[in-house]
Amino acid sequence: MNELEQIPGIGPKTVTLLEKLGIRSKDNLLHYYPFRYEVIKRTDLSLVNDGDNVTIDGIVEGQPTTIFLSKKLKKIIFRINCKKTIVNVTVYNQVYLNNELKYGKEVTIIGKYDRLKNTIVAKEVRFGLLPDVPVIEPVYYTTSGLSRKNIAKFITNALATTEDYIDYIPDYLSEKYNFISKKEALINIHNPSDILLLKKARQRLKYEELFMYLLKVNYLKMKIKDDKLAIKRNIDVEEVKKFISQLTFTLTTDQIKATMEIISDLNSDKRMNRLLQGDVGSGKTIVAFISAYANYLAGYQTAMMVPTEILASQHYDNAIKLFSNYNLKIALLTGSVSKKNKEEILTKLENGEIDFVIGTQALIQDKIVFKNLGLVITDEQHRFGVNQRNNFKNKGTMPDILSMSATPIPRTYALTIYGDMDVSSIVTKPEGRKEVITYAKKEKDLFEILTMMKKELDQKHQIYVIAPSIEEDDDSYSVIELKEKMEKAFGKIAKIEVVHGKLESEEKEKVMRNFEKSKIDILISTTVIEVGVNVPNASMIVIFNANLFGLSTLHQLRGRVGRGDIQSYCILISKENCDRLKFLENNNDGFKISEYDFENRGEGDLFGVRQSGETGLILANINRDFKMLVRVKEDVVNFMSNVFNEQLEQYNHIYKELDKIGNLN
Ligand code: ADP
Ligand code: MG
Repeated sequence: MNELEQIPGIGPKTVTLLEKLGIRSKDNLLHYYPFRYEVIKRTDLSLVNDGDNVTIDGIVEGQPTTIFLSKKLKKIIFRINCKKTIVNVTVYNQVYLNNELKYGKEVTIIGKYDRLKNTIVAKEVRFGLLPDVPVIEPVYYTTSGLSRKNIAKFITNALATTEDYIDYIPDYLSEKYNFISKKEALINIHNPSDILLLKKARQRLKYEELFMYLLKVNYLKMKIKDDKLAIKRNIDVEEVKKFISQLTFTLTTDQIKATMEIISDLNSDKRMNRLLQGDVGSGKTIVAFISAYANYLAGYQTAMMVPTEILASQHYDNAIKLFSNYNLKIALLTGSVSKKNKEEILTKLENGEIDFVIGTQALIQDKIVFKNLGLVITDEQHRFGVNQRNNFKNKGTMPDILSMSATPIPRTYALTIYGDMDVSSIVTKPEGRKEVITYAKKEKDLFEILTMMKKELDQKHQIYVIAPSIEEDDDSYSVIELKEKMEKAFGKIAKIEVVHGKLESEEKEKVMRNFEKSKIDILISTTVIEVGVNVPNASMIVIFNANLFGLSTLHQLRGRVGRGDIQSYCILISKENCDRLKFLENNNDGFKISEYDFENRGEGDLFGVRQSGETGLILANINRDFKMLVRVKEDVVNFMSNVFNEQLEQYNHIYKELDKIGNLN
């Protein structure tokens, strides 16, 4: 029996549904945090505007009437007495309420208020009156067949039946920060008794995530630092310069500097552990490719890992073009490569017939044997978990590591977090780029926005449209909703498709390929396209509910356009004016943006749950939770040097987690 089935209310059917949400264990369920909260409190009707969402409670007056408007459309109308006034209520298509909804019942109504008709069109009818203090309710991502209420119930039941929670924060640190207990934190992140406790819960859980994350990073560093295993090469720099001189463009000064730093690392007898950071479009890929070439000149293989298949095949195509006149042999290895093909590639990696392999996680999940792997490059490094980056097996030597990131963090911060990792930065962009023009707009400007979109479509340019969620959600747009909207507006003149994280990878790949080939005009997506995708004919990106995203994410998304020589536009839409979006309107420099983000984001930010099994970070975000990260880093270093080595029994659960990190030899 599945462990989840021991939780009251969960049977085999529900287990299958939960699995769709990535919940496979009780632990997963307890860490399936709300992505936002709703505050339920009584509205003073005399203060609201026509059309506002309201919440009121009262007693049903008279007998409710059901009216059949058509086969599919039924409504119930009734009146409620809420002490001060009497209000009419209309409920559509919830006939099941009929039996319960009776004269004299106490009810709470949530819905839209029509002032003129003194009527609420109810979204939700609950039985019972509102408590006197506001209630904070969790909102979870759902899947069809499971409502957010179901999920809330399961979690409440799971919390009620759990006694021992594993707490990874050492006691002395919990005391230092005055953290609430793990149990209290989990209870309050799901069912906060008030805002203050919710904040405390988030702080504590975030700290724990970062503590374990940095502990793993540092532990790994300790293990790989062994320079005895480093590769010593003798790359002919003149050969590399010759290669560079034959490129179709001239490298920027920063690109040359980064390239030379890498080559000098490769030639040294220390193991390279370098971060190459540069804004979107700054040209990191070519630096990586030149490094792969230099590594090849010295007789070693290179593996490049990227977070998505889309990006892998794009890099592969580019590499094939770049090296068409050279002997370097390249292969693409992703989850969708056929079995036969894959076996062939694996054999060739083992006997050294392939010099450069580009791939996704598939590269690390299997046991790949290289003949002489010399360099591992990871693109968008944060997407990978700590234990994945270094999981290559190689006989005798340890490969050098180059990590690339397009979410630049200010240099001093980078040094604090990564410690002994060296950093190369590409600050200036290649010449002649047209800056993306950004507009912060409001939802009520939709007509104007559609007109701007039409103008691009008329010129046969392509457009990205971004929504925060995949499925219906009351307060933000979903991919599905936007597809309908766009079909209505442009269905006749444009081909519109959808891509998001829940599609099968084959389907995703197909849609992306078609977008690349201009067979799709408008691509509606979640942030899955955030990373690396390169379609130069796409000239506009329209982001709905932009205020729900972090600035770095928005900047990344904006980087999907402006990749060719056509003037491109980014439209950020929010319900209300938003300073952060205004800042993006006037700033195009990723470094400045991330600094602004660091400085202006309070810890009170309640958005941004991102489930990531790989890094273990759900609430915490390396780029955003910077201030806490610096503190945690210090604590981790102290913990490692003072406490860790004594192998105290009380930390067994921590050692156990560290043991899970891939064996490196
Ligand atoms: P990112 O840093 O976001 O990964 P890319 O490496 O994808 O950026 O580069 C973006 C585009 O700029 C690519 O089409 C690349 O060929 C081009 N590019 C890179 N370096 C230069 C340069 N020095 N001059 C002109 N174009 C360049
Ligand atoms: Mg890139």
